[in-house]
Amino acid sequence: MDKRILIAEDDPISRQLVVTRLTRWGYETLQAVDGAQAWELLQQPGAPRLAVLDWMMPEFSGVDLCRKVRSEKQQVYTYLLLLTAKDRKEDLIDGLEAGADDYLIKPVNALELKARLCVGERILTWQDQLMAARESLRFQATHDALSGIWNRGAILGQLEAEYARLQREPGFLGVIMIDLDHFKAINDTHGHEGGDIVLKTVAKRMLLEMRPYDRLGRYGGEEFLVFAPGCGLEQTVAVAERLLQALRVSEMALPTGSLRVTASMGVSAYAGEIGVSVEGLLRGADAALYRAKKRGRDRVERSCFEETRGRPASPNAALT
Ligand code: GH3
Ligand code: MG
Ligand code: MG
Ligand code: MG
Repeated sequence: MDKRILIAEDDPISRQLVVTRLTRWGYETLQAVDGAQAWELLQQPGAPRLAVLDWMMPEFSGVDLCRKVRSEKQQVYTYLLLLTAKDRKEDLIDGLEAGADDYLIKPVNALELKARLCVGERILTWQDQLMAARESLRFQATHDALSGIWNRGAILGQLEAEYARLQREPGFLGVIMIDLDHFKAINDTHGHEGGDIVLKTVAKRMLLEMRPYDRLGRYGGEEFLVFAPGCGLEQTVAVAERLLQALRVSEMALPTGSLRVTASMGVSAYAGEIGVSVEGLLRGADAALYRAKKRGRDRVERSCFEETRGRPASPNAALT
């Protein structure tokens, strides 16, 4: 637990007294002599998450500070303990309503201060655990559990967002649909666990070949989707060829033996053409992938404009 704490108190003697105690209890103190300084310290990145605020201070009162802190959209929670000479119920209610978590009546009793800070730390620890759990849920909701890359929903969402961006600033967007070749046979020979290792290795090898702003997601069982912002059709084909080369260049080692893995890839691209939607791009890449399978696998094929536009291609297009 972070042992930093902010103490905001305008009276130097009271402040020193609290600081001495906090230091003795192992806290690292940051001191503010008025409300404005306290506010500045609380706004710094990585500010202490535990703060002891005197009620009556120049510039901003402790209650003002509580209100200001709570009105900010905070990433992490700050636990606020008000110090007050007031013991009238209505005032204390004001303080709590303004966002204080707790209060202490001055003169401060050392043991009580220590106990209340322990409560604050406990709450901050819960908060950390909650945030970590939320972060982990967010990760699980957007990533593929096996390979760790984006899952289908996330990659499609990002593709939609990239496409939407191109409606405002013209540019290119390339899409690659990837399907591993004869994957069923890999499972049959090396078991499902072997197949899983291949899927992970494929994702890792492709990621290493990609630019930071290109995206890779798992689209289905042994299917992957890549999109490349800024790439037209030929540039995207070049990306796909590079990814394919990274797969076939060397064997993958499994406990049951080594194997060479190849994939078929279909490429489509958008350059602002009217009538080409995200669905059209996916349909085009899929049609090209189908052609890559038909033409012998382990290869990259381009989609044609008719496919991305959604008009049926000529019946022989896949075979010519
Ligand atoms: P093709 O070259 O025509 O694509 O042949 P294929 O065998 O790859 O195609 P098919 O679609 O028939 O087989 C895909 C296989 O992928 C079937 C399925 O059992 C397997 N698969 C899907 N998801 C997973 C997974 O998460 N792990 C493993 N090990 N296998 C998976
Ligand atoms: Mg004061
Ligand atoms: Mg498949
Ligand atoms: Mg396959």
